[in-house]
Amino acid sequence: MMIPPISRREALRKLYQIAVSVGATSFLTFDDLLQASQRTNPVPSVVWLHGSSCTGCTCSLLNIEEVPLVQLITQFMDLTFHPDISSATGEQVVSILTALLESDRKFILLFEGGLPVDLPHACLMADRPMSEWVSRLGSKAEASIAIGTCAALGGIPKMAGTLTGSHTLSEFFKKEGIATPVINLPTCPIKPEHLVYTLLYYSKFKKPPEMDAMNRPKTFFGKTVHERCIYYADFQEDNFAKRIGEDGCLFKLGCQGPITYNDCLINGFNNNTNICIRAGHPCIGCASVQFPRKIMMHRFDDVRQI
Ligand code: SF4
Ligand code: SF4
Repeated sequence: MMIPPISRREALRKLYQIAVSVGATSFLTFDDLLQASQRTNPVPSVVWLHGSSCTGCTCSLLNIEEVPLVQLITQFMDLTFHPDISSATGEQVVSILTALLESDRKFILLFEGGLPVDLPHACLMADRPMSEWVSRLGSKAEASIAIGTCAALGGIPKMAGTLTGSHTLSEFFKKEGIATPVINLPTCPIKPEHLVYTLLYYSKFKKPPEMDAMNRPKTFFGKTVHERCIYYADFQEDNFAKRIGEDGCLFKLGCQGPITYNDCLINGFNNNTNICIRAGHPCIGCASVQFPRKIMMHRFDDVRQI
């Protein structure tokens, strides 16, 4: 990808903007930014593929307001292929990915969506099942990132009653005997800050950030939504909302915050403009393995079944 011509000062300003906005200044120094602006250090190549997905995670990344995405994908990494961002189509894509597979280049595989293992032809790329591409690229990648809840924990493609046999990236790697590490970044859709931080961290340290037992970075998934909630005091004082939009804790309207690990109340969507609970809606646990539940909304008896 061509690096747009900008002054060194402007490049540094934009790179610093990236580091600040995703909380990466704790590990990225000014020297790192300087090197990134000059591309003096090798940067990781990145390949992004889709399985059974709505493309919501890609849209979420493209919607990021505080980070200049072009600087991110040109200076901190080399975006080899993304089905929606890259201009390559058809045979060009096959050539790019085949050349990567035949080279010694290191790369990170980013995967969005589920893998329909029992219905492989539900997801094809260049007439080959996506599972075949993920198997070939996944076994050669130095690391992989499961983008969003579908790829990380199952999500909608894996909900009860679906017939595709959808696998998460970790489940698929295990089935195929692939040892490449997987970093899980659930949330439906992914929070772009989680992805940008993780890529910057990997770019600097060549390893994933510290993770929990479900391979989620502890920085984002170390606490439940409930623990940081604006209604935590209401919960303790039995002050419960009876209807959507009312003030008070949303627990009796089915809030999944107590069992969902995520940083939503400090890192909302659209440049932290808002998030479910702040908008008066219960957390539906979109970053949890329970998502989606059989009955999604506003039912206390539904909560008790879990
Ligand atoms: S609204 Fe949900 S997350 Fe917030 S305190 Fe109540 S139960 Fe916990
Ligand atoms: S508050 Fe709950 S449903 Fe909303 S984004 Fe966070 S984890 Fe997902």
